Amino acid sequence: MFDFAIVGGGIVGLSTGLALGKRYPHARILVLEKESQWAFHQTGNNSGVIHSGIYYKPGSFKAKFCRDGSRSMVEFCQEHGIDHEVCGKVIVATEEQELPRLENLYKRGLENGIKVQKISPEAVKEIEPHVKCVGGIRVFSTGIVNYKQVCLKYAELIQQQGGELRLNTKVLKISPSGQNQVLETNNGSFETRFVINCAGLHSDRIAKLGRVEPQAKIVPFRGEYYELTPEKRYLVKTLIYPVPNPDFPFLGVHFTRMIDNSVHAGPNAVLSLKREGYKKTDFNLGDFAEVITYPGFWKLAAKHADEGIQEIIRSFSKAAFTRSLQKLIPEVQAQDLVPTHAGVRAQALMNDGSLVDDFLIVPGHNSIHVCNAPSPAATSSLEIGTAIVAQIPQQSHLETVVTTM
Ligand SMILES: Cc1cc2nc3c(=O)[nH]c(=O)nc-3n(C[C@H](O)[C@H](O)[C@H](O)COP(=O)(O)OP(=O)(O)OC[C@H]3O[C@@H](n4cnc5c(N)ncnc54)[C@H](O)[C@@H]3O)c2cc1C
Repeated sequence: MFDFAIVGGGIVGLSTGLALGKRYPHARILVLEKESQWAFHQTGNNSGVIHSGIYYKPGSFKAKFCRDGSRSMVEFCQEHGIDHEVCGKVIVATEEQELPRLENLYKRGLENGIKVQKISPEAVKEIEPHVKCVGGIRVFSTGIVNYKQVCLKYAELIQQQGGELRLNTKVLKISPSGQNQVLETNNGSFETRFVINCAGLHSDRIAKLGRVEPQAKIVPFRGEYYELTPEKRYLVKTLIYPVPNPDFPFLGVHFTRMIDNSVHAGPNAVLSLKREGYKKTDFNLGDFAEVITYPGFWKLAAKHADEGIQEIIRSFSKAAFTRSLQKLIPEVQAQDLVPTHAGVRAQALMNDGSLVDDFLIVPGHNSIHVCNAPSPAATSSLEIGTAIVAQIPQQSHLETVVTTM
C-alpha cells in the first residue's frame, strides 16, 4: 500500500518523486517505469540544453518555471557534482527581415527577467567566429547538461528518502478500490491513495485509464539530429540558434555543443507514425489511426501545411537540412554531418487544431495528470515537481506530528 504512485520515470516523474519526498518525508512513494532504464524516452533523447526562458510568453508557467528552473538546475548540478556548463548562447538574424523579430525577442527576454544583450555581427563573430549574420542576441544563462545523469541522481535521492523505484513495470489498468486506486501492471498490482501521471508520450492514455478526459491528444513529433564530424567541431563554440517562428518556437534547426563536447545540429519536427517512433520507418497502426482520425490534427495540418512540408523535406533530404544550417554557418557541408539520435516530442493538441503551448496539469479524483510537458520541462523539472506537489490536496495523515513533552 502506497501513499503516492507516479507513472513514468522521465525527468518529470522523478522530479515529482523527489519533491514529494521532501514535502511528505514519511510518505510511501512508488515510481513505476515501463522501460529498463530511467529517462529512456523524451528526457534521454533531448538536446541537453538548460534553457534560459527567453522565448516564452511573459506570465506563462513556461516563462516562470524556466527562469527559476535554469537557476535551480545549475545549483542542483553544482551540489551533486553533475557535469554542466553555463556557456550562454547566441540567437542570430541571418536576413534583414528577421531583425524586427529579433528585437521583439530581445524585449521578451527583458520582460522575462533574463540577462540578454543585443550584439552586432562583429560581436557575434567574437563568440562564434564561423557564424554569418546581420545581428544577434547573447543570452548569458543558457547552459548544457546530460539530463540522463540528472535523472539518475533524482532516482538515487528518491531511494535515499525511502521511495520505491520499479523499472520494467508498465501500468496497464487503473481500478478504483474504495478510496484508493489499484495500478495493474505487467509486474504485479500496486494499491495507492494517490496517482500522479507523468507518462509523457502516453500521458493522455494513462489519464483515460484513470477516468480523466484530458481534452487534448498527444501527437508525437520526431526531432532528428545530425552531428558534426569530430574534425569540424571547431565550427561551433557554444549554442547557435536562428530567430524562431513565434508560432512554433521549437522549429528552426540549430547547433548545440553537448556536454560531452560533440556538436549536434537539429532537431527538425516531423509527425511520427508511432508514439515512440525514433526511426523514419517506425509505424504503429493504432498510433497512426489515432492521429489521422483526430479532427485537431487535420485542422493543424490545414493551417500549417507549408511548415509541415518544409519539415518533411528536411527530414528526407540531407541537402535541405544542410542548407538550413548553412544559413547560420555557411562553411558547413553535407559531408561534415552524420545522422545521430532522434527524440520524439509529446505535444498535446486540442480538438480545434491548436497546440497546447504551456504546461498542462489536470486534476482527477485522487490523481493528477501531467498532460503536456514540452520543452523546457527538463530545464524546469525541479520547479514542475514542486508545482505538481503543491497541487495535491493536503494529505493531513502524512503531516509530521510534533509532540511536546
Ligand atoms: C528532441 C527533443 C529535444 C528537447 N530538448 C530539450 C532541451 O534541450 N531542454 C529542455 O529543457 N527540454 C528539452 N526537451 C523537452 C524535454 O526533454 C521534455 O519536456 C521532458 O523530457 C519531458 O519529460 P517527461 O518525464 O514528461 O517525459 P519522458 O521523458 O518521455 O518520460 C515519460 C516516461 O513515462 C514512461 N511511461 C509511459 N507510459 C507508461 C506506462 N504505462 N507505465 C509505466 N511507465 C510509462 C515512459 O517510458 C517514459 O520513460 C526536448 C524534447 C525533445 C523530444
